[in-house]
Amino acid sequence: MSHELTELEKAALLSGASVWETRAVPRAGIRPLNLSDGPHGIRKQLGSGDHLGINGSAPATCFPTAATVANAWDAELTTALGEALGAEAAALDVDMVLGPGLNIKRSPLCGRNFEYFSEDPYLSGKLAAAYVRGIQSQGVSACPKHFAANSQEHRRMASDSVVDERTLREIYLTAFEIVVRESSPKAIMSAYNKVNGTYAHENAHLLQEILRDGWGFDGAVVSDWGGSNDAVTAVENGGTLEMPSPGLDSARQIVTALRAGRLAEADLDARVDEMVALVERIDPSLARAVDEQAHHELARRVAESSHVLLRNAGGLLPLAAGARVAVIGDFAQTPRYQGAGSSLVNPTRLSTVLDALPGSGLELVRFAQGFRRTGGPDAGLLAEAVEAARSADVALVFLGLDETSESEGNDRTHMRLPANQIGLLDALHREDVPVVVVLSAGSAIEMPWLEQTDALVHGYLGGQAGAEATLNVLTGRVNPSGRLAETYPVRLEDNPSHAYYPGLGDASEYREGLYVGYRYYETVGADVLFPFGFGLSYTTFEISDLVVTASGATVTVTNTGTVAGGHVAQLYVERVTDGAHRPVRELKGFAKVELAPGASTTVEIPFDRYTFRTFDPAADAWVTEAGEYRVAVGSHVRDLPVAAVLHVDGASAAADPAPAVYRTGDVVAVTDADFEALLGRALPTASAERELLDANSPLLAMHHAPSPLARGAAGALKGLIARSQRKGKPDLNLFFLYNMPFRAMGKMTNGAVSMDMVDGIVDIANGHLLRGVGATASGFVRNARESKRLTAELADHPTPAASAPAQAAR
Ligand code: BGC
Repeated sequence: MSHELTELEKAALLSGASVWETRAVPRAGIRPLNLSDGPHGIRKQLGSGDHLGINGSAPATCFPTAATVANAWDAELTTALGEALGAEAAALDVDMVLGPGLNIKRSPLCGRNFEYFSEDPYLSGKLAAAYVRGIQSQGVSACPKHFAANSQEHRRMASDSVVDERTLREIYLTAFEIVVRESSPKAIMSAYNKVNGTYAHENAHLLQEILRDGWGFDGAVVSDWGGSNDAVTAVENGGTLEMPSPGLDSARQIVTALRAGRLAEADLDARVDEMVALVERIDPSLARAVDEQAHHELARRVAESSHVLLRNAGGLLPLAAGARVAVIGDFAQTPRYQGAGSSLVNPTRLSTVLDALPGSGLELVRFAQGFRRTGGPDAGLLAEAVEAARSADVALVFLGLDETSESEGNDRTHMRLPANQIGLLDALHREDVPVVVVLSAGSAIEMPWLEQTDALVHGYLGGQAGAEATLNVLTGRVNPSGRLAETYPVRLEDNPSHAYYPGLGDASEYREGLYVGYRYYETVGADVLFPFGFGLSYTTFEISDLVVTASGATVTVTNTGTVAGGHVAQLYVERVTDGAHRPVRELKGFAKVELAPGASTTVEIPFDRYTFRTFDPAADAWVTEAGEYRVAVGSHVRDLPVAAVLHVDGASAAADPAPAVYRTGDVVAVTDADFEALLGRALPTASAERELLDANSPLLAMHHAPSPLARGAAGALKGLIARSQRKGKPDLNLFFLYNMPFRAMGKMTNGAVSMDMVDGIVDIANGHLLRGVGATASGFVRNARESKRLTAELADHPTPAASAPAQAAR
């Protein structure tokens, strides 16, 4: 195909035509593709596009977010969700759903944790693959993201993830490997950040050696929005499509490099072939009408399966029909059911606890708002809530994180609930009424107040039907079967990445290595609030009769209680024989079953290529170390009642050169020397702010810029962000700008700003006002001339004008 196109047509195909659309070449039968966020609902924007959800989007089912779905540990249900997403996408003429997001929860603070599945790569990969299979069964493309090691929002487009090769492969890439091998996504989204010094979208190690040559990926690599650095370097190193819209500036650079012999035609053709194959692989003919009601019900089912019962003192739950309840808390009237940012969905309908309560069988005695969502204490609201609780048999208290606490573009700085909510709980606890807390939050929180509750149900971010699901769980219509897909540490400081997260300067150092989440807590035996995989039920289960063979394990799961319920059998592998350092145990399989009271079933959990392997950086290869492995199955990582030791054949274990700190797992204060030994190279130069800015400096670096003008601009931006936070409505465009490098101006303005002009703007920020203004002005003139010339050249072989309106500067 590539040989039928002109050089310019080829080059132009490799960048977007507008915020959501790729370019077309009608004379060659290449149509434009419509891309759209997700991932927990379709966000097809109406009117002019902006990628952070500022402008409205077409109504679509808002399913629970990935952090919620993960708690169901249910691949089949996740595929059903994916099918529904795919069907809605196809019905809205969307060709590609930008998701799922499967970055690993390195720290509980990451602002986007609500969009990601788990701290565990196996669980993340299996669920993401199930999601992708569902989406793609409807003819559209999924686009798993963000590849890779994209674990913080601070400086998200201008940060270098410094991570040793073994940790990269075992923790941060394995989930992507599973998704690629098991669901063949037609596209994958590269991350904003650098990985070990090279931007993800032009990182040959990631995109060629690992993704394509190693895993056999044959789809297109799409840059995150504004995440491409250099158009030519991307083409050379495996980045297919630059999004959203650099105008024709990138195409010009590619053609110039080609003609100057700086870019091989074979590389250009390889990328063009990937793009053309992508268009050909999408099959819009599968589009069908969507049953909104059925999708709402599916959203409710997913939310029901994802609710996690964390505490149930004295078996307070489920509540009996007719129980007289006081409903307290702002979240009962204004639910928090999804996160903020590019994933924001406009739901087809929205349930609230207050609206759904009449159908629940509970008797509402009184509702009290209890607290102000954002802002300080309010004695009036508190007194009203206490009064309401006094008048009821049970207080149902709806607490959670507000919209400013969890958002794309902004990491959390602590793990607490707002103080006014804790104050409310404290007051209610002193009353003579049982307190049931229901949480809405997409990430782990500290709970020094846990003992003040009688029961605790975590609904995470349950989507548009989440409130109905919550009531079904509270009343026992649904027996909660969710299990935490992340550890809840007692306090933030216990998290192994605490001392290194987020990377504040140019680099984000992954010093804790393999010891992410439970891999750390289990290895060092730390106290945790709730272990990985934990969740209670209204019934009890027993896991017994473990049989382990070379190909897998079987166990019997029995419902030993009196009501039907779902349970997850979790399989962990521990190395018994000495060998390369590794976490004490790792999740390597799981199966969810539904059982009537008294019923038993045999569950089979097969081994696969991920079960026993480790990555040997010296050999640059995966190895299975010969020796003894303990295979343990149970209800969570700290409750493994059955285990058996298996001898596995493989390579003899080589000496592990990793420093002692990595053998003990005590990684909370890894020295430079130890981290360098793990990395096998010197650390990148100090991560202090540079004095002089360049095109890759984030706008926030202007705080230290030589030019007072630039310092003033940074201060103003920061002030505007603070103001939007005070109002309780995080302004994502401002977060985005603050963390965005100058170069993104050239990538996101549909050609209004060229990369030449970016250099001029950087000059201005560096205090070279006249030189900068001159360069920007001459860049402007050159850009206008070139853009006109290239547009005319493309029109010679008529290429369509972008059908969406040009994106204005953000
Ligand atoms: C996000 C992506 C998203 C894209 C398009 C970016 O800022 O990181 O996850 O798909 O915008 O909205």
